[in-house]
Amino acid sequence: AAQEGFDAADVEGALEEAGHGPLPVLAVVGRPNVGKSTLVNRILGRREAVVEDRPGVTRDRVTYEAEWAGRRFKVVDTGGWEQDVFGIDASVAAQAEFAIEAADAVVFVVDAKVGATDTDEAVVKLLRRAGKPVVLCANKVDGPSGEADAAMLWSLGLGEPHPVSALHGRGTGDMLDAVLEALPEAPAQSFGGTVGGPRRIALIGRPNVGKSSLLNKVAGEERVVVNELAGTTRDPVDELIELGGTTWKFVDTAGIRRRVHLQEGADYYASLRTAAAVEKAEVAVVLIDSSESISVQDQRIVTMAVEAGRAMVIAYNKWDTLDEERRYYLEREIETEMGQVAWAPRVNVSAQTGRHMEKLVPAIETALAGWETRIPTGRLNAFLGEIVAAHPHPIRGGKQPRILFGTQAGTKPPRFVLFASGFLEAGYRRFVERRLREEFGFEGTPIHISVRVRE
Ligand code: GDP
Ligand code: GDP
Repeated sequence: AAQEGFDAADVEGALEEAGHGPLPVLAVVGRPNVGKSTLVNRILGRREAVVEDRPGVTRDRVTYEAEWAGRRFKVVDTGGWEQDVFGIDASVAAQAEFAIEAADAVVFVVDAKVGATDTDEAVVKLLRRAGKPVVLCANKVDGPSGEADAAMLWSLGLGEPHPVSALHGRGTGDMLDAVLEALPEAPAQSFGGTVGGPRRIALIGRPNVGKSSLLNKVAGEERVVVNELAGTTRDPVDELIELGGTTWKFVDTAGIRRRVHLQEGADYYASLRTAAAVEKAEVAVVLIDSSESISVQDQRIVTMAVEAGRAMVIAYNKWDTLDEERRYYLEREIETEMGQVAWAPRVNVSAQTGRHMEKLVPAIETALAGWETRIPTGRLNAFLGEIVAAHPHPIRGGKQPRILFGTQAGTKPPRFVLFASGFLEAGYRRFVERRLREEFGFEGTPIHISVRVRE
C-alpha cells in the first residue's frame, strides 16, 4: 500500500530485502594452500576479509554473507586451520566434515597445478558420503595453458572441473553461476515448527564449560531416541533426545563428544564447530562456566549466535561450585558483560548434580516462541503511533524525523522495517527496540530493525 510518500514498490522492495529467513550455506573446503581463502575473498568481493599469511593464526570468524547475481547466501571458509594436528589427512577431513555437515552445497577447491592428491581423494570420500551438491573448483588456472590441468580433475568423479584463478578472478563468475544452480533458495533443513520435524538445538560454549557433561546428563537420564546415520562407522552427527515429553535434535553432538584439546589449531577447530552447529540449529544454548570470569571468548560465542540470528538461551553451568562471594561477582559480570543479550532466558544449572535441568526445556521453548513471534501490522502501527506521540525523535538541524509506519518483514528472527521521514539516530533505534521488547516480549531472540527513509 502506498503511504506517506512511499510507493508500493518501495515498500515491497524493503520487505523483500529485510524479510529473508536463514540463508543457504556454501562451504568452501580443500587442502591447505589450494586457495580457499583467496577464493572466499573473491566471492565476497573484498580483500580485507580473510587472507592471513601467518600460518596457524587463530581466526574466529568463519562465516560470511555473500551475494552473487542478486542471491544471498552464507559462505563458510575452512581456510583458517592449517595445522598438522593429527596428520594432514585427518585435520583436513575433520575441518571439512563440520563445514560440509552445515552446508547446503560445497565448493571443493583443488590446486590444478598440483593435481589430485591422496588428501584430495580423502575429501572426495567425505563429499560422497555427505551427498551434498558439489562444485569442483580447479584453482590456480591463471591462463589458458592451465585448462588442460583442470581437465585432469575429471578423474575425481565429481563432474565438471571449473577452471578458476581465485587470485586473478578468471573463471570465478562461471563457477559462481554453477554454485547458484547447486544451492537451494533456502536452507535445506526447514526452519518450521510443526512441519520441520524435531526442533534443533546447538549446545555451544568454549572448551571445558561442560558441554559434554550436559549432553551426557540429558541424554543419559532421558531416553535417547535414535541415533541417526545408522550404518556408518562414524559417530552420530546429531542426536535425538526426548526431554520434557518432546523429542529434540541436538545438532553436531559428534563435535562435542570427539574432543580436541590443547593442540595448536584447536581454537579454530572449536570456532568452526560452533559456527557449523549454529547454522544447523534453530536455538543455541550457550553454556558459560560460572566458576570462572566471563571471558571474551564467551562473548564471542554469544555474538556468533546473535549474528546468525538464532534463538538463544544462556545456561550458567557448574552452579554447584559457587560460594556466596563468587555468586556476587558473577551477577556483576553478567550485568556488565552480558547486558547486550539481557533478553536471553537464563538458567543456572549444574551438569554434575542435575540442578535445574528441568528448567532448560521451558527456557528453550520460550526462546523459540520469541523467535517466531509475528506482530500483526495493525497492532504494530498502533504501537509505533504511541511511541511517536509520546517520545518523538529529537529535532536535528531544524527537522524532526518521524516514523511514519512499520511492518514486520519476517520471523526467525523477527525482522522489522520502519519507514521514516528522515534519518533515525542509533540511540532512537535502540529506544524503539527496547520499547518493542517491553511491549511484545521477544524473549530469547535477536530482533532486526531496518529503516527506510523517504527520499
Ligand atoms: P588456503 O590455505 O586454501 O586458504 O589457500 P590461500 O587462499 O591462503 O592461498 C594459498 C596460496 O596460493 C597463496 O599464496 C595464494 O596467493 C595462492 N593462490 C591462491 N589462488 C591462486 C590462483 O588462482 N593462482 C595462483 N597462481 N595462486 C593462487
Ligand atoms: P566441554 O569441553 O565443554 O565439553 O566440558 P566437559 O563436559 O568436558 O567438562 C569440563 C570439566 O568440567 C569436566 O572435568 C567436568 O567434570 C566438569 N564439569 C562439567 N559440568 C560441571 C558442573 O556442573 N559442576 C562441576 N563441578 N563440574 C562440572
